[in-house]
Amino acid sequence: MFVVMVTPECAPVAKVGGLGDVVQGLANELAIRGNPVEIILPKYDCMRYDRIWGLTKSYGDLSVPYFDQQIHCDVYFGLVDDLKCFFIDPHSEHNFFNRGLFYGHNDDVTRFAFFCRAALEFMLKANKHPEIVHCHDWQTGLVPVLLYEMYKHVGMTHSRVCYTLHNLGHQGITGEHTLRQVGLNPGHLITHDRLRDDSRGNAVNLVKGGIVYSNFVTTVSPRYAWEIQYTGLGMGLQHTLRTHSQKLGGVLNGLDYKVWNPEIDSHIPCRYTIETIENKYKNKEALRDRLWLRHGFMPLAAVVSRLDRQKGVELMRHAIFYCLGNGCQVVLLGSSPDAAINNDFLWLKHRLNENPDCHLEVGYNEDLAHLVYAGADMIIVPSAYEPCGLTQMIAMKYGTIPIVRNTGGLADTVFDADHSDRPYHERNGYSFNDYNNQGLESALRRAIGLWHLYPQYFRELMCNAMRYEYSWKDPGTHYLNIYNYIKEP
Ligand code: ADP
Repeated sequence: MFVVMVTPECAPVAKVGGLGDVVQGLANELAIRGNPVEIILPKYDCMRYDRIWGLTKSYGDLSVPYFDQQIHCDVYFGLVDDLKCFFIDPHSEHNFFNRGLFYGHNDDVTRFAFFCRAALEFMLKANKHPEIVHCHDWQTGLVPVLLYEMYKHVGMTHSRVCYTLHNLGHQGITGEHTLRQVGLNPGHLITHDRLRDDSRGNAVNLVKGGIVYSNFVTTVSPRYAWEIQYTGLGMGLQHTLRTHSQKLGGVLNGLDYKVWNPEIDSHIPCRYTIETIENKYKNKEALRDRLWLRHGFMPLAAVVSRLDRQKGVELMRHAIFYCLGNGCQVVLLGSSPDAAINNDFLWLKHRLNENPDCHLEVGYNEDLAHLVYAGADMIIVPSAYEPCGLTQMIAMKYGTIPIVRNTGGLADTVFDADHSDRPYHERNGYSFNDYNNQGLESALRRAIGLWHLYPQYFRELMCNAMRYEYSWKDPGTHYLNIYNYIKEP
């Protein structure tokens, strides 16, 4: 099955969060199973060019309509860990992808609407006829709309679209000008059953377009698929999602165990497996050395996260103080595109600077993240909502006990040591329901208590967590089933 992914991110070259990991991991899994996969991305100036092999201009004659003008684009080809990637490079005074940042500009909707049209124009002109076009999040919501309203009539008759919602917190809310920009007819499309936002008057909702026009919509965990239809987590799209529920399903993300595996991880000083789990403690010592933390008999809890309201920044802050007051060291590795949140944490770092049991690292650091997962005893993920969450799954592979809020993918993957209805050997962490300090404390207290009072049970829990298999094997099968279900007979 020939699959083209149209995406704003692909790890490791263009990664802001889990979306980048998912595109890379799923594409790899599909390729391993013998399916030709190609990936279309913008050519950002801030990509990791050192991770692209053989980057060359492969197509120099792409004209992409933009309002009543044409913008000339070059398309580059390169391999990213053996995955075939095409990078679209527009030449215009707008400088769409040469901004030093992936997202966060006032014209983000314009930039990615342009990318959608360019990706389709490229597939058409390069004579690509994928059976499946797999799109991701609001940035590519216009791809299925353009395919069915426009490109189907000029030769792309066979392609079917799978659209994955990684986070409904961002929906690409815009006005009719975006439709005119890409050559679509606003009068025809701004209706309740098409792209008109469910609650904001005449606004255009790009995610809604993606949902309505795709052949299948997935979320990144089954629980999130349910929550967005039946709780406030649909963020205004509940009605649309329920209307299209027959083509909506949740597929839990997988992990790339070539990248996240303590047995082979080259970023950590001491590798280990379940059988050699005592070696994990050498990584704890290395983490303490690297971050100038005191060596001593106490657990170490960590946070590795984007510092976003969705991720529970207030609860992270509370967790830091709770840990320090209850015999537990704490490390936070996080960054935010929001300067105010970054500054809050920088201020906190300054305040706790002299504390030998605490280190806050405000920034993005892939290498340090590996050591944190390997060295910590627990990882705290206190999200307000969490479509899937990779951190808890990564942590488990490293025998690091997740302490999570019971929502979305966290609820699908973490089974409470005391309260789960699963047998003991399947319990792998701690979870809490209420999104407040008391809720968080109820789980943290139990985890820290077990570490101090019943170390042998804590170790059993670590082994249970390490035994969980969250690779791309199962999700790969699910996605292939979906592709087969929607592809043209
Ligand atoms: P989201 O996609 O919402 O950010 P996920 O849990 O799905 O959250 O994925 C987060 C990914 O980003 C994980 O691979 C995590 O290790 C990584 N990550 C998050 N923050 C940082 C950071 N500051 N430094 C390094 N890696 C980070």
